[in-house]
Amino acid sequence: LLAPARCATAVGTAAPKVEGGGRRSSEQGQLAVAPARLVDELVEEALVWSSQHGLVVGDKNHPRSGKAPGVGLLHAPFALLPMSFSKVYWDQAVELAPLFNELVDRVSLDGDFLQETLARTKEVDSFTGRLLDIHAKMMKLNKKEDVRLGLTRSDYMVDGATDQLLQVELNTISTSSNGLACGVCELHRNLIRQHERELGLDPESVVGNTAIAQHAEALAGAWAEFNNQSSVVLVVVQPEERDGLPVAVVYFRAGYTPNDYPSEAEWRARLLIECSSAIKCPSIAHHLVGTKKIQQELAKENVLERFLDNKADIEKVRKCFAGLWSLENDSIVMSAIESPELFVLKPQREGGGNNIYGDNLRETLISLKKDGSNELAAYILMQRIFPPASLCYLVRDGTCIRENAVSEFGIFGAYLRNKDRVIINDQCGYLMRTKAASLNEGGVVAGYAFLNSVFLT
Ligand code: ADP
Ligand code: MG
Ligand code: MG
Repeated sequence: LLAPARCATAVGTAAPKVEGGGRRSSEQGQLAVAPARLVDELVEEALVWSSQHGLVVGDKNHPRSGKAPGVGLLHAPFALLPMSFSKVYWDQAVELAPLFNELVDRVSLDGDFLQETLARTKEVDSFTGRLLDIHAKMMKLNKKEDVRLGLTRSDYMVDGATDQLLQVELNTISTSSNGLACGVCELHRNLIRQHERELGLDPESVVGNTAIAQHAEALAGAWAEFNNQSSVVLVVVQPEERDGLPVAVVYFRAGYTPNDYPSEAEWRARLLIECSSAIKCPSIAHHLVGTKKIQQELAKENVLERFLDNKADIEKVRKCFAGLWSLENDSIVMSAIESPELFVLKPQREGGGNNIYGDNLRETLISLKKDGSNELAAYILMQRIFPPASLCYLVRDGTCIRENAVSEFGIFGAYLRNKDRVIINDQCGYLMRTKAASLNEGGVVAGYAFLNSVFLT
């Protein structure tokens, strides 16, 4: 069995007192003592490095941020040192990546399964409904997507009670933060290299991150499959972007939230793109496979068997499923009302900040039940995962704090297929995010979590 402490910051046990240099703890390869002077030095160096190497995000408090290039930028929130992470979990997540890629693709081909599973959700969730409408139109047209490109990210947390790596969710659209994840990995390697002796850590144990390069390669690979030299890759960051050239690949960096569709024009654009011959990343079907409702359905008995053939693969995938329930299950709804702290209530949304916890969860369930409303179908219930917590140094707005923190670990994936030929099915780097143990939600951009990297132990 793995000790929960294996998911602790590399200097998780560090106390900020001056004792003349760090010491290695024999068990975890962690630094037992980090002098305050060293911490200050590391923070300063990290802040300078971030500015110099583009580990930055838009500053919400700056009026021209996002409007003028190079204006209103702030270092991204980051953990000062990497998270030590057991190779057992790493290997498990890496092994799962191609299985989930394949699973997404197979499920996406079963149009009836998507329509049926989401039918009740559709009645009460108009956003999912609109996506399903586009999907239904494509089914009617019998539109086949020969070339399919998936840039995915499967997110996990280690469950402290069982030491199991459990899946939080599987993202199939706008799997962001790959650039920042690569940046923070370089930052950590650099800091450790500069202070190798004092920290007593090996910079080579920070796992290199290939997310950006491999996702770019997959986009280029899809472009090549389209086989038209004068075609372009269109990245949807704003609705109705046009460029007068044949489009080989459409990458949706936007389009995952109702806010991205303020009017009918955006829905028309999404439909137009879906009808086109361009390779969509994701196609409407791949997008729908990423909904929480499909995640919950796949966790039901005998559903994985519909899509995967290999028994051993099915077992590996199932092993990382946390408890997932539909709200039609009365007894689980009662349990959640009794002990809301053990559950997360999730709508069909992306981007962080949408889930319901604790007292809110109880009240929401009680009022939904009282109304006897169909609204229940808009949500799923999930077992709350409690990852082991450890003390971490976290830096935001130029200030370093020490916080009891937990981590969420995501593995990026790429999948490119042309008819029967699987061209790419890979794991592509990772995203490690660390947040205060007291917080419910995650998300770096949402303002909860800090970028981190993996220190393999
Ligand atoms: P989104 O698609 O909005 O990112 P998630 O399912 O990833 O939705 O939930 C957002 C955040 O909520 C996660 O990053 C994680 O911090 C927290 N969370 C989600 N599910 C669980 C769970 N089962 N146990 C503990 N925390 C969770
Ligand atoms: Mg998501
Ligand atoms: Mg998420």
